[in-house]
Amino acid sequence: MNLVDDMPWLSPHWDRLDSHLQSGRVPQALLVVGRQGVGKTQLAETFSKRLLCRTPLDYACGECASCRLFAAKTHPDFLRIEPVETGKIIPVDVIRGLIANLALKPQYSGRRVVLINPAHQMNVSSSNSLLKTLEEPDEHTTLLLLTDSPQLLPATILSRCQRMEICVPERSMALAWLAKNGYEGDHANVLLSLARGAPIKALGLANDGIIEKRNEFFSAWGDLGGYGGDPAALAEEWSKFSAETLVDWMVCWTMDMIRLRTDPLNQAIENPDLAEHLLALAQKINVRNLFRFLDRLNSARKMLLGQVNRQLLLEELLIHWLRDKTKDLILLPQ
Ligand SMILES: [Zn+2]
Repeated sequence: MNLVDDMPWLSPHWDRLDSHLQSGRVPQALLVVGRQGVGKTQLAETFSKRLLCRTPLDYACGECASCRLFAAKTHPDFLRIEPVETGKIIPVDVIRGLIANLALKPQYSGRRVVLINPAHQMNVSSSNSLLKTLEEPDEHTTLLLLTDSPQLLPATILSRCQRMEICVPERSMALAWLAKNGYEGDHANVLLSLARGAPIKALGLANDGIIEKRNEFFSAWGDLGGYGGDPAALAEEWSKFSAETLVDWMVCWTMDMIRLRTDPLNQAIENPDLAEHLLALAQKINVRNLFRFLDRLNSARKMLLGQVNRQLLLEELLIHWLRDKTKDLILLPQ
């Protein structure tokens, strides 16, 4: 199956790339922006393979020597730059190595593609080093920079790349895709919410048993200050888990509680399987405080993009959450 048949939401982006190819004006540097799990990598790899193919049609032929090297991950003209570990930086010596490589002629297809993913993991020296390459275009080379956090890239890099923004698909399209991949109903709905609408991420979460994890955290979060746990202990227990994910979950639950306060039968909530628990919790809390907690969560999301002590941040959020809950129990005259 080709890319667009499999992931129809990528169709307008693929068409745009195709029109660059047809007109012979492939940008030297393309910045592909979009949430994690929306298909940036799939789009970039399919395009790279197509660029390097020797006998392409709409897509890479899949048969030629270049396509075979690409499939075997040994194509000498496809250079993939990634951190050695998720979340780590891309150090400057890696970019210097890349630049040295770019000084040579492409070996195979007369073209070369560099995929930098995620581009925002380059530190300042790496970005500066890459900038020189962006300033001196080389007709044989196409750079594809992928990121879900373009705000972390220096303006000098941003201004030299053509930007392509991939949005999450409409919910119905994403749910249809998940159904095709074996997940339906409430389960699929919850996965998609946990992935903030990104279908490929949702599928990855399903395979990681994430719903069980989320239920465990939800139960501890809901009980905080009641039956068990204190914020410091809970933050410590969860500090090895992704802080971004925990904050996203709390955002989802808080928003659902706000929705349920205005309409207890709201069908549009993002965690339908937790509706009963969320409603019970929401009925004890003042809406104003829910909005205030939501503000705190949104600030935390921004802080997580920089250097921050994650355990401490989580602990502070949980302390606020507990305070808001306790205060509301006293204030609650409704
Ligand atoms: Zn081919």
